[in-house]
Amino acid sequence: MNDEFEYHLETLAVRAGQERSQYGEHSEALYLSSSFVADNAAQAAARFTGAEPGFIYSRFTNPTVTLFQDRLAALEGGETAVATASGMSAILALCMGHLKAGDHIVASAGLFGATIQLFSTWLAKFGVAVSYVPATDPAAWDAAVRPETKLFYLETPSNPLTEIADIAAIAEVAHRRGAILAVDNCFCSPALQRPLALGADLVIHSATKYIDGQGRVLGGAVVGSKALIEPVYLFLRTAGPTLSAFNAWVLVKGLETLGLRMKAHCDNALALARWLEAQPAVERVYYPGLESHPQYALAQRQQSGGGGIVSFELAGGQDAAWKLIDRVQLMSRTANLGDAKTTITHPYTTTHGRISPEAKAAAGIRQGLVRISVGLEHVEDLQRDLLRGL
Ligand SMILES: *Cc1c(COP(=O)(O)O)cnc(C)c1O
Repeated sequence: MNDEFEYHLETLAVRAGQERSQYGEHSEALYLSSSFVADNAAQAAARFTGAEPGFIYSRFTNPTVTLFQDRLAALEGGETAVATASGMSAILALCMGHLKAGDHIVASAGLFGATIQLFSTWLAKFGVAVSYVPATDPAAWDAAVRPETKLFYLETPSNPLTEIADIAAIAEVAHRRGAILAVDNCFCSPALQRPLALGADLVIHSATKYIDGQGRVLGGAVVGSKALIEPVYLFLRTAGPTLSAFNAWVLVKGLETLGLRMKAHCDNALALARWLEAQPAVERVYYPGLESHPQYALAQRQQSGGGGIVSFELAGGQDAAWKLIDRVQLMSRTANLGDAKTTITHPYTTTHGRISPEAKAAAGIRQGLVRISVGLEHVEDLQRDLLRGL
């Protein structure tokens, strides 16, 4: 690409990072090769020391993976990125690269379940402590800081209640207190929200969700400055939870339609959320694009769309929620999200099933709550599907 312009997201999504081989292929090539050949011993040595750029071995780097990293970094407005085998291995690599025994994390309370497990169970084994605070209250983040706090970690909007954390305000607290802020941008993707421009230091992705967007592969990434990505890369290079070339190729093609898909997800989700608000069986709808959302103004400022996740509370509790989930015929009964196909979940008994009833109550996850990841079907068909069980 010619870099004399500041290209828009739609352009970067189809063009950024591509380098054609000697064959001049138009579509991005898939390099299925575990290792790469040097011209001579001196070149091999220079590549191993890093004195000369070039590929060595696909645990370190691979041309297709590098293309995905460069394209995603361009979309997030980051200097560089490293890709990982899954979203969870991105979070693990971030922690292994930046934390040591004795360090402390301040994290938002409504994190993805496996992220809580990683912090509270696995990192705890190695002497890293974590405090959970309400995502919506920057003063609580400030109050939770200890002398050994190194990392602030948040997700916004949160899952499943779509609480919005003020990225700029929490980044200010992190930097004033000597910590870095990492934001899991999985729910918005760079098409709707760019945390680095708001002051975050690192962005985390589960590329499994909207970046693939069609439910095919697992993948993840960490995006940020070269200085902050280097330790994350060194951990990956040693330990190996790197992204496969094939998955990188699928994700590169996924990025090409990200902007179009996110717009369609947002339009469908907003229409469905408004319709749900008018249904007598529905007590409350959680969607950042609704005027009734408690942080509507912040969401409008921070995101360019409400996203594809809509949650709602049924007056009839768990019986009503299970009845609805059992009666739909179009929507998929699965906890995955960010797919072209709409999915429907009961968070209380699935994604949050292992959390104690007290913790669920504290997090606001009630028995009547249903979460929908709104796909790309026609919204009237989704409404008709829900009417079978509402
Ligand atoms: C799915 C998800 C993850 C984990 O990603 P995997 O690709 O499943 O490992 C992390 N954060 C959020 C918000 C997610 O939805």
